[in-house]
Amino acid sequence: MDSEFEKYADIVLPLAGPVFTFGVGGELAARLAPGHGVAVQLGARKIYTGIVWRLHSERPACRTVKGIERLLYDEPLMNGGQMRLWEWIADYYMCSLGEVMRAALPSLLKPLGFSQEEFDLRCFRPRTLKWVSLAARTATAEALNETFERLKRAPRQYEALIELADALGGELFGGAVPARRVTSDTAVLRALEKKGIVTVEEREAAGPQAVEGEFVLPLLSEAQQGAARQIREQWQRLDTVLLHGATGSGKTEIYITLMAEQLAAGRDVLMLVPEIALTAQLIARLRRVFGDRVTSYHSGLTDRQRTETYLRLNRSRGGEVVVGVRSSLFLPLRHLGLVVVDEEHDGSFKQSDPAPRYNARDCAVVMTRLCGCKCLMGSATPSLESYMNGLSGKYGAVRLGERYGGAQLPRIVVSDTLRAARRNERRSHFNRDLLDRMAGALERGEQVMLFQNRRGFSPYVECDDCGWTARCPHCNVTLTLHKSEHALRCHYCGYRSDVPVRCPSCGVGTPSPKGFGTEKVEDEIAALFPRARVARLDRDTTRSRSGYERIIGDFEAGRTDILVGTQMITKGFDFSRVSLVGILNADNLLNYPDFRAGERAFQLMTQVAGRAGRGQVAGEVVIQTSQPAHPVVVQVVAGDYEAMARTQLADRQAFFYPPYGRLAALTLKSGDHARLHAAAAEFGERLRRIFGRRLLGPQPPAVDRIKGEHLLSFLLKIEGGRSFAQARRLLAEEMARLLSDARYRSVKVVCNIEP
Ligand code: ADP
Ligand code: ZN
Ligand code: ZN
Repeated sequence: MDSEFEKYADIVLPLAGPVFTFGVGGELAARLAPGHGVAVQLGARKIYTGIVWRLHSERPACRTVKGIERLLYDEPLMNGGQMRLWEWIADYYMCSLGEVMRAALPSLLKPLGFSQEEFDLRCFRPRTLKWVSLAARTATAEALNETFERLKRAPRQYEALIELADALGGELFGGAVPARRVTSDTAVLRALEKKGIVTVEEREAAGPQAVEGEFVLPLLSEAQQGAARQIREQWQRLDTVLLHGATGSGKTEIYITLMAEQLAAGRDVLMLVPEIALTAQLIARLRRVFGDRVTSYHSGLTDRQRTETYLRLNRSRGGEVVVGVRSSLFLPLRHLGLVVVDEEHDGSFKQSDPAPRYNARDCAVVMTRLCGCKCLMGSATPSLESYMNGLSGKYGAVRLGERYGGAQLPRIVVSDTLRAARRNERRSHFNRDLLDRMAGALERGEQVMLFQNRRGFSPYVECDDCGWTARCPHCNVTLTLHKSEHALRCHYCGYRSDVPVRCPSCGVGTPSPKGFGTEKVEDEIAALFPRARVARLDRDTTRSRSGYERIIGDFEAGRTDILVGTQMITKGFDFSRVSLVGILNADNLLNYPDFRAGERAFQLMTQVAGRAGRGQVAGEVVIQTSQPAHPVVVQVVAGDYEAMARTQLADRQAFFYPPYGRLAALTLKSGDHARLHAAAAEFGERLRRIFGRRLLGPQPPAVDRIKGEHLLSFLLKIEGGRSFAQARRLLAEEMARLLSDARYRSVKVVCNIEP
């Protein structure tokens, strides 16, 4: 019955399942190619966008094969390099191509509908403009004159025709101009069109942008030139190079220089940054050099903007500079010459939820192979993985020790919070050491940044009488007090509740805020320095795009004196008037229960310290901690990355943690506590038969209930030298077995590769 199909197409749909096969017949058979976006119907009514993955002649075994509804765009939506990247991600991170599709394509490119009409309504339609030209019948001098004669009695049409002739100028016959230059009255235009005098056509509004022009490149210092030369040399042999350059050493200027060389050769450049808040400052810097070639891509843009960017790049002939967060990895750059991963150590390159749980930094390295491009990673505090790859010769490694322009690295002072409390030298959350320096800096008209790794007012409220704490009813965590909203909020599920006046448990005590977050710091600063202008940068103040632009713009322009923030303020910013940085509580960084805690604490403290003293004024940093002798604190003060790396790597090696082994973190979830434990016991036993002592768990994670579901986790460590690919295959089999077990229908399992 479906012999009408000449071929079959495997189509990727934005679902967790496998690819589906559809029939291809009629005129589509000649046009369809891999990468094309198509509309297909799945089930009784649902219409999906799919991507043609493979064309073949193998009829699937099912009884009826459906045909493709229609082709959505003339050109394929993706190129071969990208398709290979999706395949690599699906294989390595153990997810479906459809899940990759969900992350990769802007939402307007993958509409879904319950009817053809609904689907069409949601489909992206490019903005169009009307363009007008003379119709063939009027396209000679003689015919045109005649037409003018005839139109004498219709003065408005006559006038519009004059405007058209005027606007067409030298291209009177054959040219076209935007309709708004001819008349603003659509009725007049329609009349002219109906009489066959003019032709009106719709053209896409945002055509490919012209990318031309000379760049004004920065003059590199001798040290920077040396680093750039070494990077070029290493690229001769290796695809990926790690630039390990101190904060303020001018890594961005080196990137710009190397990017310009790619653009001059007609190739595209992709620059990945960890944080949207960061892109604003960086884009301004890049635009000064590369002008309109610079495009940004992140979640702060509208769906339409992202879709237009995607389609424009898909048609570009090269010479593009794209700056974006991790998802920009999926943009269809066809002439990719270089991927720069700035602040490569940053955890936000990894997407932990939902699938695909990919790390954009690691994918960039894979892309060098798939797209034939180069990769440059930069950081003042490289991840130990990249550092090791540099040492072992897998990546090239270039060191840049000095700050640009003779600026000095800041002096770091450790201030003991316990000692200060004993001596009565502590006011609320500030030691005298810090307060005195803040007063001095403000007096001199310099700026101050304060880092506290927690947002909200205080992380929990506790009854002073009975010790009751406010907890989320759906998650096993305390609720954070957000004072300005007069609410308690769960940072895991978003649950909110009012702040109780009286303790709901004992009925006598008053719950009071304990601990402190950025909101409280802001409050206290306002009380301690009433004349200072204070701003706060964290997830709560940057919900809108204009939010962070305003906060950063004000601080940059000197309209605020003190910027309080979470780790958002640590990343890559370049403010020239900051002379003092305070780290308010290093303890919660040092005590974090994770094998990366030491590395992360070093990176965060060094990065935030690196925001001080970047301009003319010398910088100072105060670290408040109750553990002044903690090795990581000592290493930060000494600026000794190598010492940190040595000690941390020794620990990692002893326990086969990365980079000496690879990890898969498995989480089982269920609303049914008993079923979850039974499933975990069985699953654990099976895995242990395969992996032995490489498997840890099951154990409850630090937060063992989220959104009403109980959680149990396993960690699988595969030491170097063992096949990780085979381990993943065996793991996938066991996961599939668990998921198909009717007894455990309520149990979900999530696998996070290289968490
Ligand atoms: P990094 O990213 O390594 O921390 P940046 O690239 O932000 O450092 O550079 C620090 C500061 O020095 C910036 O203000 C930058 O404009 C300036 N700078 C660096 N290199 C140059 C250069 N070659 N010419 C002019 N200014 C430079
Ligand atoms: Zn109480
Ligand atoms: Zn919750």
